[in-house]
Amino acid sequence: MKRLAILGSTGSIGQSTLSIVEQFPERYAVASLAAGRNLEEAFAQVARWRPRLISMATEELAGQLAARLREAGISGVEVAHGTAGTVAIATLPEADFVVSAIVGVAGLEATHAAIVAGKPVGLANKECMVAAGEILTRAARERNVPILPIDSEHNAVHQCLRVGAHAEVKAIWLTASGGPFRQTPLEQFASITPEQALKHPTWVMGRRITIDSATMLNKGLEVIEACRLFDVGPEKVRVTVHPQSTVHSLVEYVDGSILAQISVTDMRLPILYALAYPERPASSLTFDLAKLRHLDFEEPDFERFPCLRLAFEAAAKGGAHCIALNAADEVAVEAFLDRKIPFLGIPRTIEQVLAATPESHPGTIAEVLAADGEARERARSSIRP
Ligand code: MG
Repeated sequence: MKRLAILGSTGSIGQSTLSIVEQFPERYAVASLAAGRNLEEAFAQVARWRPRLISMATEELAGQLAARLREAGISGVEVAHGTAGTVAIATLPEADFVVSAIVGVAGLEATHAAIVAGKPVGLANKECMVAAGEILTRAARERNVPILPIDSEHNAVHQCLRVGAHAEVKAIWLTASGGPFRQTPLEQFASITPEQALKHPTWVMGRRITIDSATMLNKGLEVIEACRLFDVGPEKVRVTVHPQSTVHSLVEYVDGSILAQISVTDMRLPILYALAYPERPASSLTFDLAKLRHLDFEEPDFERFPCLRLAFEAAAKGGAHCIALNAADEVAVEAFLDRKIPFLGIPRTIEQVLAATPESHPGTIAEVLAADGEARERARSSIRP
């Protein structure tokens, strides 16, 4: 029986994780939940799962949840809050496995604390790996703690890597849907609206990641994530545009063999894989091969998607440049959604911030967060007229 600590339990990955627990009660139980700001959902999750500890984003929300639990006569559940609360969730002694699914760098300290505490981590938070991958992977290696990717592409790569040796890998191929503007004429990019950019062809996701898919910055973050998770340089990571999103990624070996992972586009499968690794439990997430007609693969267009080029450049420099790429993008996406900058202002802002970022390699989480703050400030001042 694995007892789970879930960071980001009310988000879509958190809820999918709980549906896996529901489906496999003989394998998984809930130890602790970091729920963020959604009080209703947090209350429902405590009532259903009775964790030992739950954490809310703020002290006020924690107080409200505690009062609701008292009214409902639910006892024995401790309510914490803030970063200290999230860290307590991740390091709870009885938790055997941590699902890291808080969006953004907010989950960074807790994810690091989980690894330092020797807990295996299922990682759905790519910003953690982009901003602090050098620190997280080093800590994990030193303690022999597995980090199992839940991001669908990296999960696919992890599966394909099980059949060969590290030195035999020629290239890791990350597939990209290409987003909604794969075929949009270049001259129309200047007038793309938030409404157009928020329509993703294959996945329903949060707002930032949907915009990041439209600019392909998301794929760029995944390139950096792949470098860190699989210990390869960016020259070994390739992106291929695969509009069907059926092949979740591929690994090319030096002998010429290419292994691909195909499955339904349902995040419960990578979550189940990460939770059960190295086992493969039987599931109902089947893929109908007979319905498969086309598998198209195209070269990505770096002119159309400058964010992808910027990400490869940041990946080559590592350290502060990867932190700045992620931070500047988050600020720029917010500004685009608020109609303060145009769609093409996103890569422009990132490029300016990267150019102003001195090369450095933060060695602690505190230094990562400081570099993140600096990059955000640079992005904000480059957006301000
Ligand atoms: Mg992905």
